[in-house]
Order: sequence, then C-alpha cells, then structure tokens
Amino acid sequence: MAYVIISFTYSKFSVKKDVVYIFQLFDRQGVTCIKMGRTVLGRALRATCCFLVDGLAVEGGSPYFKTKLNTFYQENKPHQAVFTHGHEDHAGNVDLFNKLGITPYVHQSAINYLSSPPVIPYYRRFVWGAPAAGQSQAIGDIIETAKHTFHVVDTPGHSEDHLCLYDEKEGWLFTGDLYVGERIFYLYKNENLPKIKETLKKLSALDFSTLFCSHRGPLQKGPEALTRKLLHLEALEEEAKALQLKGHSIPHITKKLLGKEDYMCFISKGEFSKTALVTALLST
Ligand SMILES: [Zn+2]
Repeated sequence: MAYVIISFTYSKFSVKKDVVYIFQLFDRQGVTCIKMGRTVLGRALRATCCFLVDGLAVEGGSPYFKTKLNTFYQENKPHQAVFTHGHEDHAGNVDLFNKLGITPYVHQSAINYLSSPPVIPYYRRFVWGAPAAGQSQAIGDIIETAKHTFHVVDTPGHSEDHLCLYDEKEGWLFTGDLYVGERIFYLYKNENLPKIKETLKKLSALDFSTLFCSHRGPLQKGPEALTRKLLHLEALEEEAKALQLKGHSIPHITKKLLGKEDYMCFISKGEFSKTALVTALLST
C-alpha cells in the first residue's frame, strides 16, 4: 500500500537505543491516519493506527507514542474522541485526552477498565506500552462532527466492549480490531470466536467502501474483505473439525493447519497463540 506522507514533522524512522520505530502520518479521503509501531531488528511489532477526522479522534494510539501524539494533538487539536475498545493500543492514552480537555466516548462496559487498568503482560507493555488510567464516558447511538454523522455499531467478539463507527454517507467503517487481516493464525484466549463471526457477518452487510482498521490502516472494498475473513474462518473451522473427527489431537490439528507454535505463543505465554485459535474453532 503506497502511503502519502502529509507531514514530516515527525521522522518516519527514529533510532532509540537498539529499537527503531515508525511514526507516519498520511491522508485518506480527508481522514488523517497516524500509523505507529516499534520494530526490532527491522521487524515491525504489530503497528497501530489512530485517526483524526473533522476534530474527532478515533482511537488514542499506543502509550509508547504518547509524547509524539501529544505534539501532534497540540498542533491538530481534537474536540472529541472515541475509542473502539479498552485495549491499551486503542485506549491506553486516555490520560492524554483528559489533559487535552476531552473525555473520550467508549462502550459503557469499558469505563471502569479505563479508570483502573490492570497490569498487562510484559510483551504487551513492550509492544505498545503500559496503559494509563483516565476518565471516559458512555457513548450513545450517534457521534456527530460538523461534517459527519457516525452511527455507533455494537460489535462484540474481539472484546465485549468493542464498537465500530459507521459513516453511511461517506461509506466509511472504523473497525477497531475486528479486521486486522483476512487470514489469521493466532487468537487471544479471551476472544469470542462465535461473536466475531456474527459481527463480521453483520458488518459485511453494511453499505460502505473504505474500512479503517486500527492496525492495517485504510483499505478499499471493506465488505468484501470482511466476507473473505469470515469465509476463511469458516473453512478453517470445517478443516479443524474434520481432523478432530478422525481422532487428531489439538496440537496435531494446530500444526497441520497453522504450522508450529512460534515466538508469539512463547512471548505471550500462550495468551496469543495458534492453539487458542484451533481450540476456539473446535468449540464453536
Ligand atoms: Zn484489541
């Protein structure tokens, strides 16, 4: 994907000790997209995107980039903010928004989590940074800016507090962590796969074109992408269940369909793994 860098105020690559990081700004259809992520030995570690459109911040970025985001927001002040869910790479900068005079809108069930976030595992702190505590408020059915009307869509699955923003007129859907990629190899242990599938089905029926993913950034033909993800999950489920019927164990099915467990399972101590995905596929 070719990005149009609209500002070089912040360097694309900066060296901090032995870790290189990315902080890019680019524009898509009037939406400023801010992509950030740490890299180690040239390998990107789960980049995150947040967006600014007509004074509305969608997502709050990773805590690791709080200072850079603060500089950006001082020059491009948002008037309101929505976080799609409470995970640290989306809402861990809630304190920054509070300092900007904004109480971000979130799902009702995320409010207590954000006011007192738990200590997260080390690998998540390393990739995204530790979340700060802060105040948020319950979102309603609609978020309005001067130029846009966003419908709030309840989208549980990745987490119970997950929501998406839908601008029907522009044909935009901000999908938080529900897309991320079409062919997934890992799942978090606490993700709800049946709900993810229901949500993908619901969202793919919406009339939109541009999908704004909070990790991949913007992409076109959004409904088709969501449908392909759903079909991939269904096909994987069918294969996993067929192997189980033949008497294969979960480790064997995992290795056959997704390959050996790798560093993701190791560094997350099993929280994010191929085994979790196969276990969920077989439980549906
Ligand atoms: Zn998440």
